[in-house]
Amino acid sequence: MLNFIEEIITHDLETGKHKTIITRFPPEPNGYLHIGHAKSICLNFGLGIEFMGKTNLRFDDTNPTKEDIEYVDSIKEDVKWLGFEWAEERYASDYFQEIYDLTVKLIKKGLAYVDPSTAEEIAASKGTPTQAGTDSPYRTRSVEENLRLFLEMKDGKHAEGSMTLRAKIDMASPNMQMRDPLLYRIKFATHHQTGDKWCIYPMYDYAHPISDAIENITHSLCTLEFEVHRPLYEWTIANLDLFPSRQIEFARLNLTYTVMSKRKLLQLVQNKLVEGWDDPRMPTISGLRRRGYTPSALREFATRIGIAKRENLIDVELLEFCLREDLNKTSQRLMAVLNPLKVIIENYPEKELRKARIENNPENESKTYRWVRFLREIYIEQEDFMENPVKGFHRLVPGGYVRLKSAYIIQHKETIYNADGTIKEIRCNYIKESRSGNDKSGLKVKGLSHWVSVELAIEAQCNLYDKLFTEKEPDSVKDKSFTELLNPDSLKILPKIFIEASIKTKKLKPGTTFQFLRHGYFCVDKNSTNEHTVFNRTVTLKDLWKPSVS
Ligand code: ATP
Ligand code: MG
Repeated sequence: MLNFIEEIITHDLETGKHKTIITRFPPEPNGYLHIGHAKSICLNFGLGIEFMGKTNLRFDDTNPTKEDIEYVDSIKEDVKWLGFEWAEERYASDYFQEIYDLTVKLIKKGLAYVDPSTAEEIAASKGTPTQAGTDSPYRTRSVEENLRLFLEMKDGKHAEGSMTLRAKIDMASPNMQMRDPLLYRIKFATHHQTGDKWCIYPMYDYAHPISDAIENITHSLCTLEFEVHRPLYEWTIANLDLFPSRQIEFARLNLTYTVMSKRKLLQLVQNKLVEGWDDPRMPTISGLRRRGYTPSALREFATRIGIAKRENLIDVELLEFCLREDLNKTSQRLMAVLNPLKVIIENYPEKELRKARIENNPENESKTYRWVRFLREIYIEQEDFMENPVKGFHRLVPGGYVRLKSAYIIQHKETIYNADGTIKEIRCNYIKESRSGNDKSGLKVKGLSHWVSVELAIEAQCNLYDKLFTEKEPDSVKDKSFTELLNPDSLKILPKIFIEASIKTKKLKPGTTFQFLRHGYFCVDKNSTNEHTVFNRTVTLKDLWKPSVS
């Protein structure tokens, strides 16, 4: 079934309104892209592909004071990483001259005027949604005077904030956006693309339709909050006789346990509440990438949430589900012990060189295996041994049995304690006839533990990430700012985990992902080195999150 945007496009192509379509993804380079932008990227580029049209990447860079080339570069990297290619890389700033020339035309038509009123005066004259505004005393200036003043603004003859150019539309319009909106303001700021060439900059709402029209964008997709700006978009196109680009709004992505505005994400970065834009807990594309998310998981997520006309809130669990589905198919399995308990198998020969045959990925059709050496001293998880077992616990207990993955059944003999009463290690015996795949022991053992041979274990650091916020909707908790709702346990660092030796044969680079059996998916962090391997927990195997009790 087609979504409403696909329906509009199909209609426009069938009726011959357009021969081909051009869409654009138009980020303002004032921050890193987040998962909401990924939805917009998948939508815009996806339609370009689906209808055999084109999609441009356009930087909407009309506000030099908040923008930076660092953001431009990161945005390009993120779009490419998601798997899309833009037809053309454009900048709204490429069009400053053209927008200026068109504006002169607008002034000549008597549709714009220079207004020296202060921001406060303009705000006060705007009226309210139920009350008409009042005309500026400068609204009736002559065309000649407006042309002269606008040229002077461009030539830097007037101070920042001393005057603006406004559209002459209707101060009584029921749509507040149409009450003589600002078109240009003076800013003596160096622009990351145009340097000091300009000291007047067009407003976003005015530059956007012109940029769209210049690029022959057929369908200009934006989020719902721009619906009230659409009349101004259409006014600009109509009064400047431009290519008939059409603005269409769709619902933005809102995700539970997440804040999504660049302004708020910037606040987290600047106040050092996270490690940076690419902190693996951030909903930025770079953060998700570092966390171990894959482009195909994000694209699948975008497909599943679909496109709607009404705002809604998507469960972050759906995003994690898409990720697990993908990683389950592609990830090599390994055994890793996160919280080690040493086990000495007393009746196992010192120099024994038996190997366990372990499947690399049961989801993979071409079944492959690896051999892992099983030695006398191994690590198992602390949580796999309970001295005073709770009901339903099936792994090792005093005197009890457990099966070691692809190896043998062992039986607990003795627990050795440290001076402070904590457990130092446990001693066990193995059952020689219980070898996996050839078990003649006759023992019925329910529990299965994974293990790592002590002597061969590879050490690594492991970062366990959890949700960044404790509240489902951190943006809308009464009387609390989102920064007060951070989850204090969103990062737990395990300085030393032990991984089976076969990891040595793998090429480890940032983003390489494994499934650590029973623990979840883990990927190599960007700060990982040959000497000090660092893993990030990407996602657990099942959803372990319990809602906070409130
Ligand atoms: P933010 O509010 O986070 O700063 P923005 O809308 O100001 O985002 P832009 O750089 O202007 O960021 O956005 C580029 C494109 O991405 C726009 O078309 C915008 O509508 C879209 N977009 C931004 N946030 C979302 C979201 N949460 N869901 C879907 N699309 C989004
Ligand atoms: Mg914006």
